[in-house]
Order: sequence, then C-alpha cells, then structure tokens
Amino acid sequence: MCSVPTLLPNVQANLRRLNKRITKAARAAGRDPSSVRLVAVSKTFSPAAIIEALQAGQRAFGENYVQEAVAKIEAVRTIAVAEGSSPITDPLEWHFIGPIQSNKTRAIAEHFDWVQSVERLKVAERLSTQRPDSAPPLNVLLQINISAEASKAGLAPDQTLAVAHAVSSLPRLRLRGLMAIPEPHDDPAQQRRPFAAMKQLFDQLVADGIPVDTLSIGMSADLEAAIAEGATMVRVGTAIFGERDTR
Ligand SMILES: *Cc1c(COP(=O)(O)O)cnc(C)c1O
Repeated sequence: MCSVPTLLPNVQANLRRLNKRITKAARAAGRDPSSVRLVAVSKTFSPAAIIEALQAGQRAFGENYVQEAVAKIEAVRTIAVAEGSSPITDPLEWHFIGPIQSNKTRAIAEHFDWVQSVERLKVAERLSTQRPDSAPPLNVLLQINISAEASKAGLAPDQTLAVAHAVSSLPRLRLRGLMAIPEPHDDPAQQRRPFAAMKQLFDQLVADGIPVDTLSIGMSADLEAAIAEGATMVRVGTAIFGERDTR
C-alpha cells in the first residue's frame, strides 16, 4: 500500500503521482485505467488550488459544504475564464459529497452536476423538484452505510433496491449508482471487504434493471482496495491537496 505523506506542497505533482497510482491499481486488477474516474476533493482548499489542478487537466471536483462550494464554483469559473479556458468547450464538473440538509437542497440542485450523498427519498424528491429546467438532469448516487456504523450517514444496504427504484423514476434526476465511505482500516484485506459488499449491491441494481454505471468508492488511503473491487470513481482529497485543517 502507498502511505499518504503529510506534506504535499505541489498539487500538479501530486496529481501526476495519484494518476499513476490509479493506473497501476487498475492494471493490477486487470482493468482499463480509463474505467476509473477521479474526483478531486477540494473541500477547505482555495480556488487557487483548484485552478492548479484544473491546469493539470483535472475536471471533476468534490465539495462537502454548500456555502463554501457555491462561492468557490463562482470564483473558479471567473478565474478560468480570465485565464482563457472556456467553461463551455471544457466544462468543469462539480460533485456534492457532503451531508445534505433539507434547507440546502435548492442550492445543491442549482449549482452541482452530481450529488453523491443522497440517503433519503425525500431529499431526492426535493432535488428533482428544485433542479432548474434549463440544466440537464442532476446525476445522483445513493450513499450507503455499508459498514453499518450507527454514527454514519447512508442508506441501510437492505433498503437500497427499493429506494433506487423510486429515485430512478424521478424526472429531473439521473440515478447513476452508489457511493460509500466505509470504516477506515489500515489492512488492505479489511479495506476490501466493504468495497466487495458495495460491488454486490451495485450488481444487484443492474440485475434488477436499474441502469447504473457508477460505483464511487475509495479515497486517498484505500483507493487500491476500491479499484480492486470494481470502483469506477474514486474521491481523493489529501493525496492531491494535502492535509486539511480539521473541521
Ligand atoms: C473528504 C472526503 C473525501 C476525501 O478524503 P481523503 O481521505 O482526503 O482522500 C472523499 N469522500 C468524501 C465523502 C469526503 O468527505
């Protein structure tokens, strides 16, 4: 396993190293490296850090806090346009990955391209109602509490199929798949267990006729295990931008 250094001063070098890690993990699993997408988790980091990643070719970014994200989305767009990159020919993709409060669903529906942290049908219904008609359908993942931790967010695995059917029928959403944040483990074998359970759940949706294509599992410390078990998307913050101030 790769350990995560504590000081990562260079976003572009970190991204190169990370993309190599992803490629290596995919090949080791006998998979095409292009079948794993990287979402750069930029929560708590500045628009300048995001611009650095953008200049290295990174397009998808993940944010956890609505107010912080909305301000940054605007700031990054302004800087990118000023630097001559076109938001139309080369669009950025913003993923909301944090806990969703009901009073924030409108801002999320208006500003994001993906929401990975939907854990209740009620929230999905609000997002569908509030998604502007001028925007394409909002891409949605259901967050699953795969380690069944009492303190953790997410749908119980045994509720997933029913909620997935309900969400996939909502008009302004497009259900793309599942997301999870398992309990952290240092041991790769332990890391793989919940990811394997997620892959099983994902395959059940497919077998039940729900056209999902995205399994978002794996972060800085466990992306190799996630890719080995079938991740099509990894969400990585620390290994790109460095350690966050705890908040
Ligand atoms: C912060 C966060 C990440 C990134 O975690 P790192 O360990 O910094 O890579 C991924 N997913 C979610 C939902 C997060 O909140």
